[in-house]
Amino acid sequence: MRKLLLGGLAVLGLLAVLVGRTLMVAAPEMRAVPLPSLSPSQDQAAMVARLSRSITFPTVSGNDEAFVAFHAFLRESFPLVHEVLSLKTFDHSLLFHWDSGNSCKPTLLLAHQDVVPVSSPADWKHPPFSGAEDDGYIWGRGTMDDKVSVMAILEAVEGMLAAGEQPSCDVWLAFGHDEETGGMHGAARMAAWLLSRGLQFELVLDEGGMILPGSTLGIREPVALIGIAEKGYLSVQLRAYGEPGHSSRPPVRTAIGELASAIQVLESSPRPASLGVPTRQMLEQVAPWQPFGKRLVFANLWLFKPLVLQQLASKPETNAMIRTTLAPTMLNAGVKDNVLPGVAQAVINFRLLPGERSEDILAWLNDTLPPSVKVKVHEGFFSEASDVSPTDSDAYQRVAALAAALPGEPVPTPFLLIAGSDARHYQALSGNVLRFLPVSLQREDIARFHGPNERLARDQYAQMVRFYSGVIQAVESPFH
Ligand SMILES: [Zn+2]
Repeated sequence: MRKLLLGGLAVLGLLAVLVGRTLMVAAPEMRAVPLPSLSPSQDQAAMVARLSRSITFPTVSGNDEAFVAFHAFLRESFPLVHEVLSLKTFDHSLLFHWDSGNSCKPTLLLAHQDVVPVSSPADWKHPPFSGAEDDGYIWGRGTMDDKVSVMAILEAVEGMLAAGEQPSCDVWLAFGHDEETGGMHGAARMAAWLLSRGLQFELVLDEGGMILPGSTLGIREPVALIGIAEKGYLSVQLRAYGEPGHSSRPPVRTAIGELASAIQVLESSPRPASLGVPTRQMLEQVAPWQPFGKRLVFANLWLFKPLVLQQLASKPETNAMIRTTLAPTMLNAGVKDNVLPGVAQAVINFRLLPGERSEDILAWLNDTLPPSVKVKVHEGFFSEASDVSPTDSDAYQRVAALAAALPGEPVPTPFLLIAGSDARHYQALSGNVLRFLPVSLQREDIARFHGPNERLARDQYAQMVRFYSGVIQAVESPFH
């Protein structure tokens, strides 16, 4: 009886803690900062026409002519930017500097001029380099990823210059030309040059997250996903060896069999799941907007973490947010159907969760696989996971407050970018590297990134320009 009573009391106590913590979760005061209005010189139709024309330059990495023509178009479209800001080029990458005359920490805005090639032109409603305006949209490669930001940032600066405005701290603009192929010739060199000048930035802002329907995170209000970290990228080559020879007398162990079982071992032993700072902060941030049941769970992650991890692991897109993923992407062995190959090889692509390093993965592979399977880093692109930027900084608050003022009044939320961006190259230049593209999309629009029918709603473009003006005009921020 006494035991039962104690047990009952313990349950009641636990319930009180759970509910108490849930009720304490209040929506933080939304500190939306109104976006600056367009200046009289910023004619919307003219801005849209320039965006539309920018799309007609097929700036796929390697197409030198397109970049040269695009730069001439930029000079003609943004005369004040080219007159007042200094410009340094790195191959086709452009690094602008707007000197404020003040010594406070500068801001660095990033975007890339290059676009991915088009694999299936027939699937496009309008040709991918037409910049066609139709149905309230501007269509074509770069309208989302991310030439649109090059244009919107330049519109913002040109507009401020025309209005005789000056930023309170220096502003730098870095527009890479090879982001889609790793950024080694553009972003990496610009970042190294800035670092060699001893520069440190208050804020580095690149593409990354965007505004998505709240249903993405189970709430009604739209969410503005502000990337505070991005995953790393590591490809590893596995090789298994066997006795080459005629397939009529096969040995017990073959190169292909050994490689296949190695891949199976890896796929059936995923890296451990962990919430990590960005994902934990994301869940906590939207908790106040959740219905009571879910709020109870997110407000008590100390107890429900295993349950939440299990839920997140059940879908590929959320599973990628809680662990280092591995994906076999290349396989190669054999030249003829009756010949045993002496070697079989595969490439496994890892996306590293912040906190897990490439050396941890290599050590784990060597521990997990039999010594007969040789492991080596695959040549090509490689990047460790980024640091995690804090959310209690002025820089984050400034971006979040402006994001909250975008149409639909989205809830700004920190988030982990599972893909890569040029921002990775600028890590050493700022403690506040953020990744956010100020556009509002539907879930199905995500497939337009690198896919057919990339497009931007016409009405969103002016908002983008106003957003970037707001980021530059830090002086109007209530946080300074
Ligand atoms: Zn991009």
